[in-house]
Amino acid sequence: MTTPGTSRAPLRVAIVGSGPAAFYAAEHLLAIPDLAVRVDMFERLPTPYGLVRAGVAPDHQKIKSVTRIFDRIAADPRVRFYGLVEVGRHLHRADLERHYHQILYATGAQGNRVLDIPGEHLEGYHAATAFVAWYNGHPDFCDRQFDFSGGTAAIVGVGNVATDVARILCTPADDLARTDAADYAVAALRDSRIRRVYLLGRRGPAQAAFTNPEIKELGDRDHVQVDAPLEEVRLDAASRAALERGGSRDVARKVELLERLARRGRENRTYRVTLRFLVSPVELVGDDAGHVRAIRLAKNRLTATAAGTLVARRTSRQEEIAADLVLRAVGYRGVALPEVPFNEPWGVILNDRGRVLDPQTRRPLVGHYVAGWIKRGATGVIGTNKPDANETVSCMQADLRRGLTLGPSEPHPEQLERLVRARQPGFVSLADWHRLDEMERARGRAEGRPRVKFTSVADALAALGRPPTTQA
Ligand code: NAP
Repeated sequence: MTTPGTSRAPLRVAIVGSGPAAFYAAEHLLAIPDLAVRVDMFERLPTPYGLVRAGVAPDHQKIKSVTRIFDRIAADPRVRFYGLVEVGRHLHRADLERHYHQILYATGAQGNRVLDIPGEHLEGYHAATAFVAWYNGHPDFCDRQFDFSGGTAAIVGVGNVATDVARILCTPADDLARTDAADYAVAALRDSRIRRVYLLGRRGPAQAAFTNPEIKELGDRDHVQVDAPLEEVRLDAASRAALERGGSRDVARKVELLERLARRGRENRTYRVTLRFLVSPVELVGDDAGHVRAIRLAKNRLTATAAGTLVARRTSRQEEIAADLVLRAVGYRGVALPEVPFNEPWGVILNDRGRVLDPQTRRPLVGHYVAGWIKRGATGVIGTNKPDANETVSCMQADLRRGLTLGPSEPHPEQLERLVRARQPGFVSLADWHRLDEMERARGRAEGRPRVKFTSVADALAALGRPPTTQA
């Protein structure tokens, strides 16, 4: 077999997923000097961009402008986009191995973590990730129902998803109606009676996972008062010592910022967000109708592990706070792909620096790679995926040099296209996506919004003049 990567035998790479990690990996591959490469990207939804479209908050349009870079990458003639094609359903591992030298999984983290406490069956309790996907118009979540008729919401976790969700709950509907939030979400939130929001951190302020701009933005919102009990914001001795021993400037600034918020007097604002620290939910308490009405919290203290990490330990002290809506924002979790080795406890594809490992031998599985959240877990911001994808692509390049690729029996691009047409005749091409994109923007222009999204697969297909049955 001749080494792939020449103009006569280009390297054929399949990328599964079309979020930031997928696009950055494609960008790195296309930039390798003297390498003839063809990249096919498979996306199970009709639309690309993963969490940039369905995760980034609708009031953070600037962050979404990263899609301009992705558009440029997708427009490269060496790249093809196959939307509405699901690997594991329309195409299987053996299909990809028959057509590609290298396969890169960049499927993100579509699941979420649970708390494992009594009461998680109650109505009014949801994963924050589901709420995020719902207000962003993700087709899998457009039929979800959220009840905003109570006055108080509690958000478990103090990461950036928690601050996003708190901000959206505290955004006047007229402001939200100017974004690309799903219309049904704007309508439902217009009737929201939620005015009080708790953010519940199990550790202290120095360990809060949100970043400084995000918490500052929440505190700067006109309609929102952000406060915190001063005694919970004051650093405990262990956190203070850790900070003095060499904590980052960002952490010091975060603690200062939180102290300032805690000292701010009571303000007369529409919404009130209270940050709580050193508390862990131990039970959700329901009413007779099976709806959550309160959350029971244990008070924590911080103790250091042998490795020096400060972890929360429950004390015997407990309290209960009212909560008519409870969202757990305790992290996304990767979902296994059929026939791809998975590290269950970590919720990632089993890998070493991006090379997928055989679970028996722990040796790299030739030709299989991984990038993004499904490689490293759900951490970091969009830009973190760039160096992450680079690490994986460096492994792909090194393996290629050593002749360690798959030997596809049908490497010609038309052979793959024939297979896709047979398995998923209604697939969405790049040209189709451009039509959808333009239609969404046109609908948005008419209403002074960035775009009005198609929020169901059937609507997207109908807009393309296709019957809904083609999603089979
Ligand atoms: P995250 O940053 O990992 O935060 C998760 C939070 O949940 C932490 O406060 C964590 O506390 C807490 N938690 C975990 N398990 C818990 C439990 N059993 N009980 C109580 N609390 C628990 O996750 P995320 O907020 O889902 O965000 C995911 C990634 O996306 C992050 O890297 C985030 O920065 C990024 N993101 C960025 C933006 C933005 O840039 N604007 C927006 C959204 C998301 P511990 O620290 O104690 O574990």
